[in-house]
Amino acid sequence: MTDGKLPLRTRLASTVSRGAAALSRATGRGDGSVIGGRLGLLIDPELLANLAAGRQVALISGTNGKTTTTRLTAAALGVLGPVATNSFGANMPSGHTSALARAGNTPYAVLEVDEHYLSAVLASTSPRVVALLNLSRDQLDRAKEVAMMAQLWRDALAQHPGVQVVANADDPMVTWAATPQGPAGDGPAVTWVAAGQRWHDDSWVCPRCGAHIERAGGQWWCTGCPLRRPDPQWTVDGDAVVDPGGIRHHVALRLPGRVNLANAATALAVAAELGVPVARAVPRLAEVTSIAGRYATVARDGRTIRLLLAKNPAGWLEAFDMAEEAPTLLSINARDPDGLDTSWLFDVDFSSLRGRRVLVTGDRAYDLAVRLEVDGVAFTHVRSFDQAVAAVPPGRLEVIANYTAFQDIRAELDRVN
Ligand SMILES: [Zn+2]
Repeated sequence: MTDGKLPLRTRLASTVSRGAAALSRATGRGDGSVIGGRLGLLIDPELLANLAAGRQVALISGTNGKTTTTRLTAAALGVLGPVATNSFGANMPSGHTSALARAGNTPYAVLEVDEHYLSAVLASTSPRVVALLNLSRDQLDRAKEVAMMAQLWRDALAQHPGVQVVANADDPMVTWAATPQGPAGDGPAVTWVAAGQRWHDDSWVCPRCGAHIERAGGQWWCTGCPLRRPDPQWTVDGDAVVDPGGIRHHVALRLPGRVNLANAATALAVAAELGVPVARAVPRLAEVTSIAGRYATVARDGRTIRLLLAKNPAGWLEAFDMAEEAPTLLSINARDPDGLDTSWLFDVDFSSLRGRRVLVTGDRAYDLAVRLEVDGVAFTHVRSFDQAVAAVPPGRLEVIANYTAFQDIRAELDRVN
């Protein structure tokens, strides 16, 4: 919908939203992507729905990888035309509203959605495609909350049988969520991606019947009911993504790790559903180099420092896989956005770091130290990021940090992008 066709209240709300965002940026109070949207929604509660109308919308949700997959999908969709996206990770309705208001009249939108808001955002944006990446515990949640989230997604999708779902076949919780039986006995169409599952500890119990889930040879199945891994149409093979036609597409990503190749496979699947030829989308993926500092590589004092963000147990395992065999700094805080309780550290197996030069820092370095001690990982405590840089020889330094610890280090490195 062009601005001129929007209801007066929506036009006013949209203008206020953009103005507040610009003001917020100008006064140095963040990028404005939340406050502008919040004000706009106060004036017009239908603002998000009105701004989404007329666009082809794709939503991306999951516990991990949604910011990266959103960026990759937006890059792939760029083949077809301008794409609105909430690239700052403001992934609740206020952020979506602000992103669409700021982007103006684009034919496409790719929105990262916090998993708790998927139902609301499905209702207001009427997306063509919804991608479901994975579900695992956050810092404070446990398996029970994960099953509840799967049920919420499932209920939400049952209300939208016309949406095309792109879902991870390797995650039993996602598989269950993606296949609701609607009132007419038919749910949304699903395209399955073999996106992998690094973290199994939240899906040993079948969400459908409560029986044990078995895994072997890349398959999983419930021992008590017919729920099992669907056959994926999209797979990852070495450094290639294989499309539903069996064609291998070599993907030269600038982001590390198999998990990002799986994110690329999901992005290509979403883009393909919206009509993007895969071969034209693939080169676009290499344009994505870092996301709000994540995966950024920075040179300082002869060290090449790479930043990896890990916000929850599954994210830590993925970061260990991505980190090169090099000195590694781990930084942990426990401020509000991180969760105040660090007991999740005991959910993560740190033993793959054995034999590596490990440094620890952050507000809760001592909690981390206890955890490493138990796992038999030798480490050195440093008081600051600078001290860590000085303590390692010239060459590579891998940094893995949780949310506010990551932001602290980014600030020290002058807001690297
Ligand atoms: Zn079952």
